[in-house]
Amino acid sequence: MRFDIITIFPDIFESYLKEGLIARGLKKKLIQVKVHDLRKWTKDKHKTVDDRPFGGGLGMVMKVDPIFRAVKAIKKKKSKVILFTPRGEKFEQKTAFKLKKYDQLVFICGRYEGVDERVAEKIADLKMSIGDYVLMGGEVPSLVVVEAVSRLVPGVIAKEQLLKERTTKTKGYLEYPQYTRPEVFSPRKGTNWRVPKDLISGDHEKIKKWREKRERTIEK
Ligand code: SAM
Repeated sequence: MRFDIITIFPDIFESYLKEGLIARGLKKKLIQVKVHDLRKWTKDKHKTVDDRPFGGGLGMVMKVDPIFRAVKAIKKKKSKVILFTPRGEKFEQKTAFKLKKYDQLVFICGRYEGVDERVAEKIADLKMSIGDYVLMGGEVPSLVVVEAVSRLVPGVIAKEQLLKERTTKTKGYLEYPQYTRPEVFSPRKGTNWRVPKDLISGDHEKIKKWREKRERTIEK
């Protein structure tokens, strides 16, 4: 699985990709993440990626032509080109399962007042939103999708966890709540936050029942 991210702020991704299971997945070559500076595909000396909107209005709009050249250079076979926009289809666990089937995902990260609509109409295969709120750019959404899809790639997370999630394929799976030591935490005098009794009972049947009652699929 290969992710190609087109952005005007490539440095945002640097530290993120160096940490945790994503870093391990990259090192083991289970996933590949390539971050591309959109300015590389501009043709003027100022490396312009945005311009004023036709019809007037506040702010700037990202230009179609550098994005077209970037996608043309990056896109391979069996890929999906995704434009992040708050007006897109909502990204969910079932979307992550669908996207995992492609060899390559190309992400276009918008900034400013958004992206020239011709990118949505002519270049992107999918318009995707990570939720009903407006962010400043598509960089965080692209990391959300990288993370959700990567953890479905065999080897990136523990096998047992992935197997469980696969059995509820399109729905997704939410595990039971977890606790660790201490058994009783007292944040202040007279207040005790206790671990549920069944979990510290040592009785495997009780533990199993407690957990089964609380695990669920995402589509309740
Ligand atoms: N008025 C613009 C619109 O409706 O598309 C909002 C632009 S927003 C300030 C800048 C960029 O952030 C967008 O082009 C998009 O790439 C990204 N973005 C903002 N909110 C998002 C969301 N909920 N999901 C996905 N991308 C989002």
